[in-house]
Amino acid sequence: MPTPEFSSNVAQLEASPTLALAARARKLKADGVDVVDLSAGEPQYPAPAYAARAGIRAVEEGKTGYPPTAGLPELRDAIARYLRETTASATVDPASVIVGAGVKQALFNCCYALFEPGHEVLVPAPYWPSYPAIVGLSGAEPVVIDTGWDTAFLPSVEDLEAARTPHTRGLMLNSPGNPTGAVIPGDLLRDILMWADRHGIWVLSDEIYRRLSYDGPAPSVFDVAERGERTVLLDGLSKAFCMPGFRIGYAVGPPDLVRKMSDLQGQTTSGAVGPSQYSAAAALGESGAREAFVADLVSKLARLRDLGLTAFNGIGAIEAKPPDGALYFYGRLADPAASSLAVAEQLLVEASVACMPGEPFGSPGYLRFNFAVEPEVLEEGMTRLADFFG
Ligand code: PMP
Ligand code: GLU
Repeated sequence: MPTPEFSSNVAQLEASPTLALAARARKLKADGVDVVDLSAGEPQYPAPAYAARAGIRAVEEGKTGYPPTAGLPELRDAIARYLRETTASATVDPASVIVGAGVKQALFNCCYALFEPGHEVLVPAPYWPSYPAIVGLSGAEPVVIDTGWDTAFLPSVEDLEAARTPHTRGLMLNSPGNPTGAVIPGDLLRDILMWADRHGIWVLSDEIYRRLSYDGPAPSVFDVAERGERTVLLDGLSKAFCMPGFRIGYAVGPPDLVRKMSDLQGQTTSGAVGPSQYSAAAALGESGAREAFVADLVSKLARLRDLGLTAFNGIGAIEAKPPDGALYFYGRLADPAASSLAVAEQLLVEASVACMPGEPFGSPGYLRFNFAVEPEVLEEGMTRLADFFG
């Protein structure tokens, strides 16, 4: 078969490295290899039973027609209420909410609706690999700003200002961050939002790990009174509610933008899967069950974080800061000449531990480990890691 001549839309596009590595680990397992899989960022626990049941019930009741393109009214309403109840914003209303198939789709729609060739979008590194990929699909140029170990992986307003040009239209924020777990403190977040507002820059704030924080709540852009009109919050059910397979995410922003994103969605996917939306509406809407589920998950993850860190930092060849949030250890290799891509490959082949190398996150020299697994899996992974590094 001849190789198709791909369009310039996708010629530069690479497969998601996180999903690709997870698929490789799954394949090795299916082939009988005893892999400890700490690769993809996925809480490996069941969805809340009350939420799963709500989706099943909806199907059994025959609620299987097309949902409204922007999302079921009860889900948009539950999201707006959830944000009013868990952030300082008392005014979020359902018209500013759009539901998509995961944060990934919501983010794609948002970037596609706002950016185009000639625009630049600032992306602090280390970053989730899909940010530059999705910005690139809109035609805009992702402009990477390095943060690093010495600055606790936080961007400063000075760094952002130094990278700003007349073409800068957007800024990606992700706090708590993947892969570092870094949390942007409230005063820095406010300064960044005020800076962006002064320069007419859209801030896309991916808060998918907001509820997973270990040292006090992680501030949301909706906690900041001084945020400008061009602020979009993105969140979803994949992490704090252990529902990645339901594929539900959402964006909250100005109603005009939400309407345009809905038009785009109406011409592409017709919206997110119906039964999943009923499950998500229950997950977020039943506040008592919701908060109990999140509190349980956070205490479980906090224990895993402590357990893993102690083991991790006993290994001289790699060092990690305690992550303030999210579900990863982002370990720095002690040997500055080592290729993290090669070390991750060796770890998989020789020690059967799957982790993510730092390169696709824009930060070579690091390895990322998902710690949202069962304690015995994490312990086994850490033992293999210690043996591997000797
Ligand atoms: N944002 C970040 C920072 C992530 O780590 C992930 C990984 N799942 C996503 C978004 C995508 O989430 P979703 O499953 O909602 O598409
Ligand atoms: N976001 C997760 C990760 O970083 C899951 C895979 C993906 O969606 O990229 O591993």
